[in-house]
Amino acid sequence: MSTLADSPAIERVRHDTRMRLLDVVRVADVTPLMRRITLSGDVEGFVTLGHADHVKCFFGEPGAVPVIPVLGPNGAEFPQGHPRPQMRDYTPRAFDAAANTLEIDFVLHGDGPASSWAAQAAIGQTLLIGGPRGSLIVPSTFDWYLLAGDETALPALGRRIEELPAGARILAVIEVDNLAEEQRFTTRADLSLTYVHRNGRPAGTTTLILDAVQSLALPPGTGYAFIAGEATMSKAVRQHLLDQRGLNPDWLRALGYWVLGEADSH
Ligand SMILES: Cc1cc2nc3c(=O)[nH]c(=O)nc-3n(C[C@H](O)[C@H](O)[C@H](O)COP(=O)(O)OP(=O)(O)OC[C@H]3O[C@@H](n4cnc5c(N)ncnc54)[C@H](O)[C@@H]3O)c2cc1C
Repeated sequence: MSTLADSPAIERVRHDTRMRLLDVVRVADVTPLMRRITLSGDVEGFVTLGHADHVKCFFGEPGAVPVIPVLGPNGAEFPQGHPRPQMRDYTPRAFDAAANTLEIDFVLHGDGPASSWAAQAAIGQTLLIGGPRGSLIVPSTFDWYLLAGDETALPALGRRIEELPAGARILAVIEVDNLAEEQRFTTRADLSLTYVHRNGRPAGTTTLILDAVQSLALPPGTGYAFIAGEATMSKAVRQHLLDQRGLNPDWLRALGYWVLGEADSH
C-alpha cells in the first residue's frame, strides 16, 4: 500500500494554446439532457492529457459569422467592430487524433448561450474553441479515488473512470435528474458507482451529493478526491472531506463548474 511520502507528484503540463474554428459533424443525445457534439477540422496538434482539462467555447450571435481572435496577453482579442462572443468552459470528453474528431458533451439545462447553442446545434455549423491551456495529470497509483459531481462533471468523471487502470479503486457519486440520465462506463478499474437522482428538483438545489459522500465508507490508504459541479455543492463536499474525513488538501481537487443563479460564473 502506498503512503503520502511515496505517492508520485501531480504533474502540470502546459500546452500551446490555439484558437480553432471547428465543424459540427455529428449531434447525438447520450441521454435526454446530455447532447454530444462531435467536432472536426482544424484539430491538428490538439492535446488533452488530463480528464479535467477544459476548452473555452465561444458563442456569438445566432447567424453571425465567427471571427477567429488573436491570442494576446489578455487572452482572446477580437478585431474592432466584432464584439467578444460569450465564452464558456467545456471538457473535451474524447479526442481521436486518427479520426480527427473532438467530442464535447453539453448539459441541456435551459437558457444560456452554451446550452442554447447545443440545443439547436446541427451538422454543418461551426464552433470556435481555444485551449486546453494545460493539463493536470494525477497519477494512477493512489490507493483509491473518490469522484463526485453533477452532470456538468460527467464528461470529466467519465474520462477518469475509463482511463484508470486495472486495480485502481474508484468510488463515484454522480447526481443526475433521473434514471434516464445515468451513463454507464467501460473501465478496467474497480468501480463502485452510485447515482443520486434529483427527480425534478432544480439542479444545484439539493444536498444529494454531500449526503451520499457522507455515508460512504472510504477505504484505507491514500486517496485522491476530485469533486466538480455546482459551486456550493463542491465547496461543501470539500469541507466535509477535509474536516470530517481528514483528507490531505494536496490530494483533493474541488471545482465549481457553475454557480446556481449566476450566468457566466467563470
Ligand atoms: C472546467 C469546466 C469544465 C466544464 N465542463 C462541462 C462539460 O463538459 N459539459 C457541461 O455541460 N458543462 C461543463 N461545465 C459547466 C458549464 O461551463 C456551465 O454550466 C456554464 O455555465 C454553461 O453555460 P450556459 O451559457 O449554458 O449558461 P450560463 O449563461 O452560464 O448560465 C445561465 C443560467 O443557467 C444556470 N446554469 C448553468 N449551468 C447549469 C447547469 N448545468 N444546470 C442548471 N443550471 C445551470 C446558471 O446558474 C444561470 O442561472 C464546465 C465548467 C468548467 C469550469
